[in-house]
Amino acid sequence: MIVYDLECENSHRFEGWFGSGDDFEKQLVDKLLSCPLCNSGNVVRRPSASHVHTGAVEKTPREKQKSSNVSVPQQYANVSPEIVAKVIEHIVRNTEDVGNKFPEEARKIHYNEAPERHIRGTASERDVDSLRDEGIDVVSLPVPPHLTTKPH
Ligand SMILES: [Zn+2]
Repeated sequence: MIVYDLECENSHRFEGWFGSGDDFEKQLVDKLLSCPLCNSGNVVRRPSASHVHTGAVEKTPREKQKSSNVSVPQQYANVSPEIVAKVIEHIVRNTEDVGNKFPEEARKIHYNEAPERHIRGTASERDVDSLRDEGIDVVSLPVPPHLTTKPH
């Protein structure tokens, strides 16, 4: 069992017990989680020290193949694109977009120079590598164009 700190849209904080992280994600996506105080189903996991990196620079298929022997992205079976889109949308809704200041902000948060929160933004692969070297969790996600901030 694992315990997550959760918070609803009305800032009620409560604990949720789950069999695993996957179990939590599934309940979240299936909207099975609700706030015990106000019954809101709009529940998010309270940030621990992790930061979400989105909007990675698009790689060409050839580059993808080349790097695939370095790290193989995990593949999930039976996860429909709709579920993936929901999860990504959820993450986008619950993160602060810091754009290309992502590496800078992630460091500030990591070194307690900025309030702890979930952020998203763009970073080069080199930036992401050095953030990881510093022990900062960075997750790369394919974000559909309609959810990314337009540069103009
Ligand atoms: Zn509530």
